[in-house]
Amino acid sequence: MAGRSQVCPHCGHRDLAEGIKLSLLAEIGAVGLNYRANLLLHGTEPLLADLCLGCGTVIRLRVARPDRNWIKA
Ligand SMILES: [Zn+2]
Repeated sequence: MAGRSQVCPHCGHRDLAEGIKLSLLAEIGAVGLNYRANLLLHGTEPLLADLCLGCGTVIRLRVARPDRNWIKA
């Protein structure tokens, strides 16, 4: 992620690791948000985290593809 200058709002650190994939400790798979791919198929868009390497704060959670047909509870 070159060219971006994100700063941690908690400690002011500039060294952030972006786009880290979340996973479960049991290694069932990645944590994600469900979307409808077509009539039969559901997909899961993995959650990505931006992490401050100074204090360990997760700055934000996001998905790479926000244009999905999201399935709400
Ligand atoms: Zn920080």
